Parts: sequence; structure tokens; C-alpha cells
Amino acid sequence: MKARTEIGEHMATIVGVIGGGQLARMMIPAAVNLGIEIRVLAEDEGMSADLAALGVGDYRDRDVVLAFAETVDVITFDHEHVPQEILRELVERGVPVHPGPDALLYAQDKLLMRQKLSDLGLPVPDWARVENPEQLGEFLAAHDGRAVVKTARGGYDGKGVRVVSHAHDADDWFAALAEDANGGALLVEELVDFRRELAQLVARRPSGEILAWPVVETVQRNGVCAEVIAPAPASAGKLADIAGDIAIAVAEGIGVTGVMAVELFETTDERLLVNELAMRPHNSGHWSMDGSTTSQFEQHLRAVLDLPLGATGARDPWTVMVNILGGPATGTLFDRYPAALSAHPTVKVHNYGKSPRPGRKVGHVTAGGDDLDDVAYEARATAAFFQD
Ligand code: ADP
Repeated sequence: MKARTEIGEHMATIVGVIGGGQLARMMIPAAVNLGIEIRVLAEDEGMSADLAALGVGDYRDRDVVLAFAETVDVITFDHEHVPQEILRELVERGVPVHPGPDALLYAQDKLLMRQKLSDLGLPVPDWARVENPEQLGEFLAAHDGRAVVKTARGGYDGKGVRVVSHAHDADDWFAALAEDANGGALLVEELVDFRRELAQLVARRPSGEILAWPVVETVQRNGVCAEVIAPAPASAGKLADIAGDIAIAVAEGIGVTGVMAVELFETTDERLLVNELAMRPHNSGHWSMDGSTTSQFEQHLRAVLDLPLGATGARDPWTVMVNILGGPATGTLFDRYPAALSAHPTVKVHNYGKSPRPGRKVGHVTAGGDDLDDVAYEARATAAFFQD
């Protein structure tokens, strides 16, 4: 540990977070409570995690990241986009990086992720690497003429994901790849007939301890997470066990450290298939801030510092988290507080301090209780105050 600072009489460990979005922001109260100092390298002025921003800098700039690393004890992330070369240089210089580059690779590149999960024997949709329309056509012919094409890198919130039914439906993406100096390929997958989407959140320490939260249901609208129900309805027993086993096998198989979310499809023929991996706190785990003994943000800090993990049980039989997408058409979220908070005093509102913009995740609300219908109503009705 090289960068301890004095807070009063205590020496505080400093966690450095690369990326200044809402995930970094929500690590701040957890760090304050544990007496851990947190410093954020934000990509811009005025970002969500400004409260703890040390400065502004480009995470793709080696010198910026190395200088930031000099001021902290451990590096972690709000996103998965820091280039591999920079991460590897940090590790070579002896900086603890969690999750490390060997694990993060599989959150950065969906083709490598599919290959690794297949190698580990984990359940994934049928997939192939395709470099041209002919190969895409062959995959379509073998899969009833429909498939999902994904860009290997750079996709989020459904961007870079396309349902196709013709070999030429992804020509623009193939053309873009041809111009890419690194060459590359697209991922094509079977169009999974799923009943619903689930997410299994786990945390793993460098020394190996792993804990899983209850499996949750995630409801997506237009490729964006709209709502999360914890635990996933009708998931007690076998389903929860299988989801937990899959996520633990992934975490151990790729050696991830910190919090990881495994997005899953529950198929209409009762299988669980891994869709995506996120190696950081994740939208599917926001419910844990109010609904679990240990929030994903506190757990992430514990894990990256190799401290014992906190219990992951649910506080209430049901917790529902609803995202505030876009925010109000006029004014701010704060303008809506008097009406929303007086109508729903048991619901917790989380505001990311971002300006409203169509489709943007600007906050979320969480309700908990014994009756799922009531809890879902409370959460949805509260969120409705914040969007027009
Ligand atoms: P992103 O990286 O943008 O989150 P995902 O790979 O998670 O992209 O895909 C976004 C959404 O698209 C998923 O949540 C799911 O609803 C749908 N989707 C992705 N892959 C498939 C698939 N193979 N079959 C059916 N739907 C899919």
C-alpha cells in the first residue's frame, strides 16, 4: 500500500475508480461509511461521480491512467473500456487492478466471452464467429432463417445488437470491420426463445471467497433495463441454485475480482443460457442498496480490497427496482420530489445528478415489502412522478 492518507488520526486506504458515471457515484456513500477514501478519474466535468472526482482525464490515455494510479492503492472501474495495454502496464508496475485484465477481456469482447464460456462448458446460445455475409448466411440457414448479430466490442444498452433474417442484414457492420485496422469479426447467435431474462450477481475476492445474491428478473424495454424484481418470481430452489452455480463457475473460471453480473436467458424449455457478463456493479444489482444486507457497491469495495464479504440475503420478501429513464420533460428530478416523496414515503429514490435526456438512465427507485403486487405498484407509481 503506497498511497495512504491521513483522515484525522486514521490512515485510510484509497480506492481509485476509473469512470465517473452513476456506478462510481454510488460507490461513494459505501466508501464513506467504511472510512475508505475513494478517488474517481472522470471522463468529463460535471459527471455523476463528481463528488469524488480527483480530476478529469481520458481513460484511453496511458499517461493519464498511470498518473492516477500513483495516487491510489487499488484500481477498479465504473465501466469496462480501459484498453488492455494500459491495464497490463498497471499490473506490471505492481498496481492492484480489480478486476484484472485477464478477466476484463471477457467483458470487453463478446466473441472472446462466448469462446471462453463454451470452453468452460457453460450453457450459452448457439453462436459463431462470422467475417462476411456468406458465413452469416450459412448460420441463418442452420437456424431457421433468424439470428442475432452483435458487434464484439463497444455495444451497450442494445446498441450493437440486431435481429437479422438475411445474409446482408449486417453489411454496414461488416463494412465497418473491414475499415478497422485490427480486422475482426461479428458474433452471430441463435435467436433465443426466452420466457424472461434473469441476472445473477456475485462478488469474488482476490483470495477466492465468492458470494451470490438471490437471482433476479430483469425486464428490458427497447434494449434497456426498465425494472428488476428481486428475487425473480418462482425462482426458489432449483432455478436459483442453477443460476448461482453458473455465475460462480464463471467467476472462478475467469478469475474475476469484485462484483460481476451474469445476464441469463430462461428459455421456454427450462434452460438457463448465459447472455452477457458485466464486471462491475450492475443495474440488475441496484435493488441491493435498499433490499439486501449488503449493497453491491459496498460489496465491490470489500472485494477489491480483499476484505471479508458481507451477507447477501434480502431484507424483504420482495424488492422491486424501477429505473427512471429520461427523466421529466421540463425541469429536474428534484422538482418532482415534493409530490413523489409525499405520495410514497416508503420508496427510496436514487438520483444520479444527471440532466434529463430521452432514454438516459437518470435515477432509480426501490420499494420493498411482503406483497409483490403492492411493491411493484409502489415502485412503478413513484418512478412515474419522474418521467412525463
Ligand atoms: P448489450 O451489450 O447492448 O447489453 P446484449 O447482448 O445484452 O447487449 O443484448 C441486449 C438485449 O437483446 C438482451 O437483453 C436481449 O433482450 C436481446 N438479446 C440479446 N441476445 C439475444 C439472443 N441471442 N436471442 C434473443 N434475444 C437476444
